[in-house]
Amino acid sequence: MSLEGTSHDPTKTEISDWSYVSEGGATMVFSYVGAPHPVFSHSVIRVRKAPLNKRDLINDIDEEEPDDPSIAFQNEVTALLIPAIHLPRLESVHVTREWLNELSISAQSKRPELRKAADDIDLSRRKAVIATDLVGGKGWAVEIKPKWAFLPNPAYLSSETRESKMNNCRFCMHSIHKTAGGETAAVGYCPLDLFSGEEGRVSKALLCLWRSWVEKDGNINNLKIFVGGSLIKPEQALRQLAPLLGQPDATDINALFPAFNQKLLPLLTQTKLLSIMAGLQRTLDALDLEGLSRLWKIRQGGESPLGTGLTNPSMEEWVAFVKEYIATNQGRDYSAVPLESMSSEQMRFFIMSYLMSTTFKDCSVILRVGSDVPNSITAIDLDPKQIDRLHNWELQDRDIVANFQESVAEGWVKKDPCVDAGSSQ
Ligand SMILES: [Zn+2]
Repeated sequence: MSLEGTSHDPTKTEISDWSYVSEGGATMVFSYVGAPHPVFSHSVIRVRKAPLNKRDLINDIDEEEPDDPSIAFQNEVTALLIPAIHLPRLESVHVTREWLNELSISAQSKRPELRKAADDIDLSRRKAVIATDLVGGKGWAVEIKPKWAFLPNPAYLSSETRESKMNNCRFCMHSIHKTAGGETAAVGYCPLDLFSGEEGRVSKALLCLWRSWVEKDGNINNLKIFVGGSLIKPEQALRQLAPLLGQPDATDINALFPAFNQKLLPLLTQTKLLSIMAGLQRTLDALDLEGLSRLWKIRQGGESPLGTGLTNPSMEEWVAFVKEYIATNQGRDYSAVPLESMSSEQMRFFIMSYLMSTTFKDCSVILRVGSDVPNSITAIDLDPKQIDRLHNWELQDRDIVANFQESVAEGWVKKDPCVDAGSSQ
């Protein structure tokens, strides 16, 4: 994609044309709010962050900085799995140290204190990413982090975990684990309801997310609500969200839920995106982490933690992987294949497959409603995961199940089984 011409040059715009939206661990996002612009209108700019002591390194290398890897990964890998209509536009643009520094200064008053103490915009970068602004404009938008959409393939589960994992989804077990440790979690929300495609169950999932959002004062990971490009808190909902829901006179926040539900339900039940995401998660995680760990032990013949010494896949490897997955492996049932018969190449395939499954377990969807553009549902945060995370995931998987089983045995957790609507497909 062309980087030529001033129309693609954000440094030719005013800093005040960009308004801070939000930030995650790795990037900060600003929305274009300036005069109508051929490239930047309805767009955000995403800039990389770095720890405070590393953000000001001088980059003397004369070579052209490569485009942000998220662009190539989406264009060459994810785009083969998710229809383009459900992906944001991503484009690489040049930036300068001076411009990034001014942008950083402009954001200070809006940044969360905890983030400010840890990191800031990486001034050594010379490129940033322009993406579709999915939360700006005149309407409202909801970001949902749906998480794990399926119950695992029982073929590779141990006798200690099988019953728990076949009756309780990973998210529900994890919520209980988090609550026991004093962390915030959307307790009661079950992703299998959201992914079921059935109106009643999707509504139930939305209600649980809404209740947690209200109860935790908007501080939950799984639901965020934006009005006019800004993240809102429950206390702002009656003033800002109620008129957009056609409930301008509402006096109780929970009275807004039926209208909220009614606006989102058609998008969530009619879209193909959620069933595509669920299918990808399920078929990419064909062995469960337990099967993958056993395969690793068989092939390595030692006790080294899962993934030790392996390099992260290159972009070429990812492209080859996704083509092989689509051609031969998507939807294949591995239940009858003994782990002992699998080669090291197959193990590499399953490790990449697990990493990619995690990308889809960890991504978010943004629903835009009633704004100046058509309603839409878009998947975001689809970056590749790193191999060095595998061992932690393995430990976490064991911890979550063990803690869940303990809570059940002690009698303080009583829950209905989670129902996987897609398990027979
Ligand atoms: Zn569940």
